[in-house]
Amino acid sequence: MLKELFTFPSGREGFFGPFGGAFIPEILHETLAELRSAFESAHRDPAFWDDYVRLMSTYSCRPTPITFCENLTRLQGGARIYIKREDLNHTGAHKANNVMGQGLLVKRMGKRRVIAETGAGQHGVATATMAAKLGLQCTIYMGAEDVERQRPNVFWMEQLGATVVAVEDGTRTLKDAINAALRDWADSMADTHYVLGTVCGPHPFPLMVTWFQSIIGTEARAQMLEMTGALPKRVYACVGGGSNASGIFAGFLDDAGVELVGVEAGGYGLDSGRHAARIAGGQGSVGVAQGYKTYFMQDAEGQMRDTHSISAGLDYIGIGPILAWLHEQKRVRFESATDAEIIAAFRTTVRNEGLIPALESAHAISCALHEAPQLPAQDAILINLSGRGDKDIFTIAAALGDERWYDFLRAKVEEHDKKNVSRETYLVKVAGGWSIE
Ligand SMILES: *Cc1c(COP(=O)(O)O)cnc(C)c1O
Repeated sequence: MLKELFTFPSGREGFFGPFGGAFIPEILHETLAELRSAFESAHRDPAFWDDYVRLMSTYSCRPTPITFCENLTRLQGGARIYIKREDLNHTGAHKANNVMGQGLLVKRMGKRRVIAETGAGQHGVATATMAAKLGLQCTIYMGAEDVERQRPNVFWMEQLGATVVAVEDGTRTLKDAINAALRDWADSMADTHYVLGTVCGPHPFPLMVTWFQSIIGTEARAQMLEMTGALPKRVYACVGGGSNASGIFAGFLDDAGVELVGVEAGGYGLDSGRHAARIAGGQGSVGVAQGYKTYFMQDAEGQMRDTHSISAGLDYIGIGPILAWLHEQKRVRFESATDAEIIAAFRTTVRNEGLIPALESAHAISCALHEAPQLPAQDAILINLSGRGDKDIFTIAAALGDERWYDFLRAKVEEHDKKNVSRETYLVKVAGGWSIE
């Protein structure tokens, strides 16, 4: 099945069953064709992958370890629980795998500049980090509203040498930033690459990003065999656009005995209508937007609906076309976890294992903790911990009702924003590196 993905058939190139493709304006045809051929040549060249693995092992903690969670296992009863530690990547999440891979490809194409758009700022920081390391110019587009909310990330992007453009159009959020980035690309594509952040968008992005992220699954499969002598029974990952899930699933696609479980954002619950469970919620429908065909959260007229999740990284209207296809093939089972469930899972994980998961990753943990008792103790299950939770401090403090810390930190940040005051308050804010909702 994995081979099938990467055969580059001509004809319906970039389609996975009915999903995917490249629905793009004429002006971008040439640059996407160039990207496709650079990707295909890199994919055929073993030296490229060796360079990538070398870079990731000297710069981003790869191979990331797998941790056996004996306390969670004892607490839940049932299958033994293992966690793949993508939180240990440089910049704190699996996003590093994608941006560093695309960076090497940009060098191979001989381009000198990268652009990206970012909402919560994590992909912007990762891209700016890659640009600093690989000597590329970098412009990050961000809705002006998000620039206000994500000051610490903006600070780091600028320190890393990126130009951050606050987009004042429309609702001043992510979709306006995407439009601005696309306008830039149409003007600059001769020397500029658009670093897409997940397994969505037009071909070849879904396949290319899956390839870079497959380093997670390739490592994890070998590590589980070595640690436990067998493959895990189930692999759990959260699904926003779908890149960390595609990455870990890629290692196990051809192992029919390994069940793959993608966990979407159930928000306030599937009945509330306020969630981002495009597949598990049964409320997504197939359409074409943002350059590709997949399940979108849309109404009968094709208008995109508002989605909600407590975690910014999962609050997404589309889903990677490869995952949509794997869903239709019944190779991936989709579930969802509500905001309340993931806060509980977060707390259980911090208290019992000393791990601080990102709220995104806590979706996968929540589902796995619920299901672990269904399986016998000789079975192992594997959870992808896509990132660390430091960035979520305000959201978590508010959700846990810890008003004391929430008010304290928030007041410090507001004070600085208004008066540009003392170094101490400034440092409190910077040390945060956290999103402020
Ligand atoms: C961005 C992000 C996600 C969501 O993106 P995917 O493409 O679905 O992986 C998940 N977890 C973390 C920690 C993130 O930063």
